Amino acid sequence: MSLTHALTLPPEARTVDHVAMFVDGEFVTAAAGGTFPTVDPNTGDTIAQVPRADGTDVDRAVAAARRAAVEWQFTDTIARSGLLRALAGLVTEHADELARIEALDSGHYLAKARELVGAIPLWLDYWAGLADKVGGRTIQVPGNKLSFTLLEPLGVTAHIVPWNYPLLVMVRSIAPALALGNTVVVKPAEDTSLSALKFAELVRAAGFPDGVFNVVTGYGAEAGASLAAHPDVAGITFTGSTETGRTVSKLAADHVAQINLELGGKSPTVVFPDADLDDAVEATVQGFCSHTGQVCVAGTRLFVHADVRDEFLGKLTDRLRSTRIGDGFAEDTEMGPLVSQKQYDRVREYIEIGKSEATLHYGGGRPDGLDEGGYFIEPTVFVDVPHDARIAREEIFGPVASVHLWTTEDELVEAVNDSIYGLFACLLGRDIKRLLSTARRLQVGGVMINDWFGELPMTPHGGHKQSGTGREEGLEAVHGYTQVKHVSINLDDSLRAGTDWVNAPL
Ligand code: NAD
Repeated sequence: MSLTHALTLPPEARTVDHVAMFVDGEFVTAAAGGTFPTVDPNTGDTIAQVPRADGTDVDRAVAAARRAAVEWQFTDTIARSGLLRALAGLVTEHADELARIEALDSGHYLAKARELVGAIPLWLDYWAGLADKVGGRTIQVPGNKLSFTLLEPLGVTAHIVPWNYPLLVMVRSIAPALALGNTVVVKPAEDTSLSALKFAELVRAAGFPDGVFNVVTGYGAEAGASLAAHPDVAGITFTGSTETGRTVSKLAADHVAQINLELGGKSPTVVFPDADLDDAVEATVQGFCSHTGQVCVAGTRLFVHADVRDEFLGKLTDRLRSTRIGDGFAEDTEMGPLVSQKQYDRVREYIEIGKSEATLHYGGGRPDGLDEGGYFIEPTVFVDVPHDARIAREEIFGPVASVHLWTTEDELVEAVNDSIYGLFACLLGRDIKRLLSTARRLQVGGVMINDWFGELPMTPHGGHKQSGTGREEGLEAVHGYTQVKHVSINLDDSLRAGTDWVNAPL
């Protein structure tokens, strides 16, 4: 069934009217008519029923994207960039509703959701600007020949998105894909489908041709797996857990699709003995409590120099006590709920595991006075944590940090690198030589020195080891959405004119 729009969230409302997917320029229900609920993590109440796509819906979306790819790849870059810029303008115009949808569906507190949505146009503008600036190269070859490469789009690209930053993670990959001439099928996470669908309304309003951008909503093992396995999908960007990333990689391998994997982490925050401890505490708290710890780069392993342990932990405790946890729509909230009952149960279980492995230093419970139905949790810190403890090795994806002490750089580097993950590290101190030489020895895709993570369209993001392959953002992301074609032209009058071995007949 076709509908006029994806959804509407009136001001002050906490439910939406209906929810439709976006396929081939139309808002539709699932072919089989199935739906599933999406909930407000602040209360546990249902916001709406979302279409449950299956293989049939995915086939329709991929077929539409494939048809649209024929023209889109040759649509000139001025036109493609113009559409991306128009879309950026519409996002700004509709920022308030988009932010409220994101806050309601994902649990980001409203002020943070506003910041995130406010930044979305940066990604669209960045790739609108780059569309006509990236290309192939000429190559010096022997003989009288001209040899060059073309950088071409892949065709249909699939974008499988997690629930922690639904709009941002989607936009950071669809913007380069579209700018570089690919068509797109998005599969949002089942917990947070709504902002991608509202965004689809803006894509249509901006004037993108039908089929260039599609969104199918549904469960990972159903809609997500059908999309990753689809033989007409030429490129996949998967952002999510390492475990699901392995599954999606195998599906991609079966039809030899190009794949970018942006996966999980267990990132270190390292406090050097000369660090400004007030700043270090602030960076630490941002590092593991931001979005209630549901951040891929979350600094959940705290490596604190033994000399500053007591002072650092004292300041950290004071700062955590002042953290304002609450309903995301309340004025002064700085930490909202976890996204779902499932994630709440998972974090609670890890806290129990932690109690058996280490010493609970702070938190561990449910904050007082909040809606019983909401998925709220206190920031939690464990000390005396052995390096092989599960809470120190496994990605919890909640505001739970383990403290480890260190004294020498060799010991620090060995402990930090002893992880299957390699996404990110945060180093806090004053001696820049010491910080930089440590940064060079860490097996991670990104290092922040005396700062916390801020996502930007122009800086490459991605992981080493089991944190992923490929890069999102920055010039490096071009490779994830293009393929190379080599063209060679013989400039001699006759094929036999060349005498060198390169031209020799077989
Ligand atoms: P997840 O792996 O459970 O799900 C991610 C997406 O994959 C969802 O859309 C889900 O529906 C889909 N999916 C699930 N099973 C699938 C299957 N069999 N086939 C195809 N698709 C399937 O991850 P999540 O819990 O939504 O997100 C949290 C994870 O994402 C964390 O591990 C976090 O570190 C990671 N993450 C990484 C980055 C990064 O940039 N590296 C950014 C954000 C989140």
